[in-house]
Amino acid sequence: MIQEFNPYQPPTTNTIKINPNGEYWAEGKLLVMPIGQTELPHRCIYCNKPITILKKKTFYKSTLQFPFLKIVPLQFGFCSSHRIQRIIKFFLGWILFFGSFILISINNYFSKFGVLLLFIAIISLSNMSYILIVKKIKNGLVYIKKCGKPFLNSLPKNS
Ligand SMILES: [Zn+2]
Repeated sequence: MIQEFNPYQPPTTNTIKINPNGEYWAEGKLLVMPIGQTELPHRCIYCNKPITILKKKTFYKSTLQFPFLKIVPLQFGFCSSHRIQRIIKFFLGWILFFGSFILISINNYFSKFGVLLLFIAIISLSNMSYILIVKKIKNGLVYIKKCGKPFLNSLPKNS
């Protein structure tokens, strides 16, 4: 593992030692950790600030080896502002979703616009439900996508 100096790195005084139970590192845009480990560092997965909520979520990844579907339970956190941002985005997504039905029920011109909005609402809501993505599982390691840059920068590097 090579530690590189990064001028954009936020203060990392207690980023690594708050590591709850294991080891992990950053490889490009991916967080890597041994399979079986469940907890990510207790920092916001987007901005690396202290967390106000710890979430548990189960992720699935299809593989070529048996068992073909690997189950990856993960625990990760959000800071208060990213938590609020997510709630607002979900709220707006659902407003868009139901609003599009109202537009569709109005005839002609508006219904076409409603279908477009419905499409946008479904894409943005489903995109939001993928908080993190298990990109691959290889050689006993799990590769996780969609962590924020400040969070990844606080981890040891392995490139
Ligand atoms: Zn945050």
